[in-house]
Amino acid sequence: MSIKNIKAYGTEAPDAILEQLNISRREVTSKDIEIDILYCGVCHSDLHFARNDWGFSVYPVVPGHEIVGKVIKVGEGITKFNVGELVAVGCLVDSCRECNNCKNDLEQYCPEFVGTYGGQDKHLNMQTFGGYSESIVVDEDFVLKIPKNLDLAGIAPILCAGITTWSPLQHWNVKKDSKVAVVGLGGLGHMAIKLAAALGADVTLFSRSPNKKQDALDLGANQVVISTDEKQMENVQGHFDLIIDTVPYAHDINPYVGTLKTNGTLVLVGYLGPLDPMLNSVPMILGRKTVAGSLIGGIAETQQLLDFCGKHDIISEIEIINIQDINEAYERMLKSDVHYRFVIDMKSLKD
Ligand code: NAP
Ligand code: ZN
Ligand code: ZN
Repeated sequence: MSIKNIKAYGTEAPDAILEQLNISRREVTSKDIEIDILYCGVCHSDLHFARNDWGFSVYPVVPGHEIVGKVIKVGEGITKFNVGELVAVGCLVDSCRECNNCKNDLEQYCPEFVGTYGGQDKHLNMQTFGGYSESIVVDEDFVLKIPKNLDLAGIAPILCAGITTWSPLQHWNVKKDSKVAVVGLGGLGHMAIKLAAALGADVTLFSRSPNKKQDALDLGANQVVISTDEKQMENVQGHFDLIIDTVPYAHDINPYVGTLKTNGTLVLVGYLGPLDPMLNSVPMILGRKTVAGSLIGGIAETQQLLDFCGKHDIISEIEIINIQDINEAYERMLKSDVHYRFVIDMKSLKD
């Protein structure tokens, strides 16, 4: 298979910074689309993967799975997209297409799903590389249409931060007047607030950062609870139908379980690993409460979310950076100092 070399930004080791490097992309096959990348969002998963926090990174790592760009080439078999069209790519670029999950539009739970980076490319015998790059080649079934009325850079975070919080809102049937809480105001958290508010839910933010209170209210939250304040936590005992916990590192989730109603669910979407401290089953059993997890969303559900955002005029609150600022952006992300998503202007890589 013929390949093409392009510029990207990535890292060669867990403790190395991100720098410019060259990667290979396959030439478009009959079912592929080549996309010139215009913007790429910066997810906390990019940082986890670059630093091998989860233990399964393959180097070099080129992160980036919140991609917006322009179609520059299409294979002969492409019918859904045209050259010049603006499109998006999220966290998935392929799956087996045959298993039950694939057949039910849940490609993210396919045992053979191919992540946009760090996955196993089915065409080239190597790992996939993400959106911190000039261009990407993707099977048309994993390319999304974007609403024409929205700011392009602000759309990018919908592809991960948006869908990761939208999918649990849908699965747990959040609707008008549902009591929803979000833990952590970062990339995922701010999208969760906007989307839950747009569905008509009564939204609460749990945060460690009192300085983010006004922002949370402006984003659509009805109240903010400072999670380190016992009195404030006491006031919301037994209150929520659904809690979406976006915190990236091990933390005590037991205090949040107490704030669920009977039959309520706490969904973990952030931290990946053993809970520490351990989960106490007592309030779960006595209140028929659930602690669950959720991974991004399928392609059809992501398209549905993009359409919903177009209709409701929802984009992410972003800070645009150049690719050369990525290492500093990661340091700020570690300090919870993101308002509320960094998006890379990929022109900075091409210049
Ligand atoms: P982010 O922008 O860095 O936001 C995380 C927020 O969590 C911070 O702003 C902070 O909010 C809070 N926080 C950070 N460290 C904390 C700690 N040690 N204890 C308590 N709170 C803490 O990150 P993100 O991009 O939203 O991603 C969040 C997590 O979701 C990451 O672990 C990422 O890998 C994961 N993720 C999962 C999926 C999935 O499919 N499940 C998809 C995308 C991302 P406050 O200042 O308000 O406390
Ligand atoms: Zn992500
Ligand atoms: Zn499958």
